[in-house]
Amino acid sequence: MKEINSSEFDSDVLQSGKVILDFYSTECPPCEALASKFEDLSRLYGNDIKFLKIYRQQNRDLSEKLGVKSSPTLLFFDNGKETGERLTGGIKRSDIIKNLDLMLSTERVKEIKSHIKHSISEYDVIILGAGPGGLTAGLYLCQSKINTVLIDIALPGGQVSTTHEVSNYPGFIEPQAGYLLSHNMSEQTKLCGTVYKVAVDITKVDLEKKEVVIDEYETVKARKIVIATGTTPNLTGASGEKELKGKGISYCATCDAKYFDNKEVVVIGGGNSAVEESDFISRFASKVTIVHQLDKFTANKKAQEKIFSNPKINVIFNSEPRTFSKEGGKMITEIENLETKEQRKLVSDGVFIFIGMKPNIKLFRDKLLLDQWGYIKADENMQTSISDIYAVGDVTSKKYRQITTAVADGTIAAMAIAKELN
Ligand SMILES: Cc1cc2nc3c(=O)[nH]c(=O)nc-3n(C[C@H](O)[C@H](O)[C@H](O)COP(=O)(O)OP(=O)(O)OC[C@H]3O[C@@H](n4cnc5c(N)ncnc54)[C@H](O)[C@@H]3O)c2cc1C
Repeated sequence: MKEINSSEFDSDVLQSGKVILDFYSTECPPCEALASKFEDLSRLYGNDIKFLKIYRQQNRDLSEKLGVKSSPTLLFFDNGKETGERLTGGIKRSDIIKNLDLMLSTERVKEIKSHIKHSISEYDVIILGAGPGGLTAGLYLCQSKINTVLIDIALPGGQVSTTHEVSNYPGFIEPQAGYLLSHNMSEQTKLCGTVYKVAVDITKVDLEKKEVVIDEYETVKARKIVIATGTTPNLTGASGEKELKGKGISYCATCDAKYFDNKEVVVIGGGNSAVEESDFISRFASKVTIVHQLDKFTANKKAQEKIFSNPKINVIFNSEPRTFSKEGGKMITEIENLETKEQRKLVSDGVFIFIGMKPNIKLFRDKLLLDQWGYIKADENMQTSISDIYAVGDVTSKKYRQITTAVADGTIAAMAIAKELN
């Protein structure tokens, strides 16, 4: 592995054979998360592919020339030509391997893979999920001198990191940018000494043995596990939704309705959440248009009556969104009537989507006691139906899912665990 600067780019990259180049920055948590994976892979692939690092802040001209806009960014070159994908953000080991393998022959890849050693590490507690619930559990456990590892399939922060602004987390007079609040939570827990294994692939979770296999090659064992994997909002599938999440599209009225004072809003959905939240949003917005795919709501009668008597709310039945886009600060929702197939555009200031959330429990759903909607049941100590397995935050069966309630769960689980382990 070698550090280069712009002046060496031509000789070390363009006039060279196979190269992987890491544009990194300092004070960059995703760069830190990548560093150990990059070093580890350089030991495996280093005889065939040159592993180079370049400090982006000091090589701005080259970064701009190559169109590298964020750190870290990984570029792959073969005989002077860029190849493979550009990887940025929370880069997974498996994605790097996929691109490295494409540069080599099948036989060589097989040989390299035969050298991968399976490692085992042991901790007192594994926390799965580094959102507010997991980070708080990690902080309390660490401060109780309990050897803890936080494992996340993405970068730390959870849903808060993609939230535009948070104005209901106590202790801050001004609204906080979501990414900043989650960054501070994560840094506080990391500074205490909790080990982070983030942007990894989790290939297996054995709750009985309390073992988690990450990136296929590493088994992490512990005496207790805290599940803090949160939820994922169901997506409509319409194009533009992922790109505009947090930039015009929201999944949380409690969090974001207040930003739509006297503005116009489109709501997608027709169950209890959509109907009740539309009523709530109408306290702020001047107009709410609900788009629902069926010819009637599935929400309870009382909630429906409120909607139909609310002059600010109008309803479009039998319709689904097809595309979301932004034009001059306005949200454009293109909807299709499912009966006539006629398409039309709704112009608004923001879109709320309430078509359900799903708990992230794929890896352990068959083992734990769940409620009827698939959320994990936990007792007052956040202990689940399996001994030594705890669950905190949005993934648990509860009525209100907010940062404060996830943080509270994390605190309770950590204190209960600390009491047992100490
Ligand atoms: C758009 C939006 C805006 C919001 N705004 C606010 C607000 O203003 N105020 C407020 O109080 N609440 C808000 N909320 C709700 C709040 O974000 C959640 O209640 C809170 O983040 C829950 O924390 P958590 O730790 O339980 O889960 P999450 O924040 O969801 O974090 C779960 C973590 O687990 C990881 N993960 C998932 N699957 C796995 C796996 N198999 N293994 C390991 N890790 C995994 C995820 O990558 C993630 O990092 C908002 C929610 C949304 C969607």
